[in-house]
Amino acid sequence: MPQDANTLPPIGLFDVRAQQALIRPEIDRRIAAVLDSGHFVQGPEVEELEKALAAFAGVGHCVGVSSGTDALQIAMMAEGIGRGDAVFLPAFTYTATAEVPLVLGATPVFVDVDPKTFNIDIEDLKRRIALVKAEGRLRPRAVVGVDLFGLPADWPAIEAICAEEGMFALDDAAQAFGGALNGKRLGGWAGAAALSFYPTKTLGCYGDGGALLTDDAAKAELYRSLRTHGEGKTRYEVMRTGMNGRLDTIQAAILLCKLPLMEQELAARTRIAGWYNERLAGKVQIPVSPEGAESAFGLYSILLADEAQRARVQEACKARGVPTAVYYPLPLHHQPAYRESHAGAIRQAPPLPVSESLCKSILALPMHPYLDEAQAARVAEAVITAL
Ligand SMILES: *Cc1c(COP(=O)(O)O)cnc(C)c1O
Repeated sequence: MPQDANTLPPIGLFDVRAQQALIRPEIDRRIAAVLDSGHFVQGPEVEELEKALAAFAGVGHCVGVSSGTDALQIAMMAEGIGRGDAVFLPAFTYTATAEVPLVLGATPVFVDVDPKTFNIDIEDLKRRIALVKAEGRLRPRAVVGVDLFGLPADWPAIEAICAEEGMFALDDAAQAFGGALNGKRLGGWAGAAALSFYPTKTLGCYGDGGALLTDDAAKAELYRSLRTHGEGKTRYEVMRTGMNGRLDTIQAAILLCKLPLMEQELAARTRIAGWYNERLAGKVQIPVSPEGAESAFGLYSILLADEAQRARVQEACKARGVPTAVYYPLPLHHQPAYRESHAGAIRQAPPLPVSESLCKSILALPMHPYLDEAQAARVAEAVITAL
């Protein structure tokens, strides 16, 4: 009942405090150690974290960078992606995925997504690659698969297409660190994977941060150079145009305190998704997990019948003290910043009906590892009463 919401503990869409309470002394200790060392940029904590993340994901190399967006940019710069290049990516994702190719002078080609997984639609990807090739104005260079809401994209299919077409496969795993496909953690799929440590991601720091994971040693070296102004073997040898894209030592120290919680937090996210699934299955469209895919549940999003029903559900949740959010209210090809580029990418571009319709009916429910079953039940009940 709405009036009960005032007496029950508040539910957060995310919660960065419950976790902090568990490890605060360790965080204080590690931050103090950085302050004492004075090694604020490229301190030893950065390398310690890179080793720990590579081990966690089961990949050869990890390069800490300043954000998930910069991770995507460094990966694309390493491929020499720029003017005249087509970068295929889903129309239903966060803006950063599309922004990076545009910043580099390349053209994003928006691809529709699967109505069940919300990840890039393989048939539509093939169709749009064929269209770009037939028009002959842009060179197909890369596919950015996004593991939306934590669910791994269809990496075997994306990798096969990229291998056949001579394109680079890049995993935007910003929402999905900890997720796995066919027993292999994200980070080990595609040519490289970009992680974000934005505070509300599955592994978040207390500011901005990111990383690139790859099994290719030469690429990892290139990423290290690019994140530090394109430096060579010595600091004042500039080999290539790079950027200032380093991960702060303090953020690395914080992530080192959080990483040991990751396995139990992933298990908690899966458990909470199960509590939601039990109560919501058959009433709304719940997240699917294709054979072999383990979502990291960065977010838990349901699909309502239409915009009106979503508005009713949001209203009812709000009245019961249950926060909700819409990721994403607009497909990228409708964003003012990308409309013109989209219109020029493929002249007779097929429509993107799934991306458009998801934006009208998707709804994210509270998801963080410190929700208990009573809270999950409260959330589900708030949704159900408004259907
Ligand atoms: C968060 C996010 C990014 C960007 O990460 P930042 O660290 O905020 O730069 C990129 N892609 C997706 C899909 C994201 O969710």
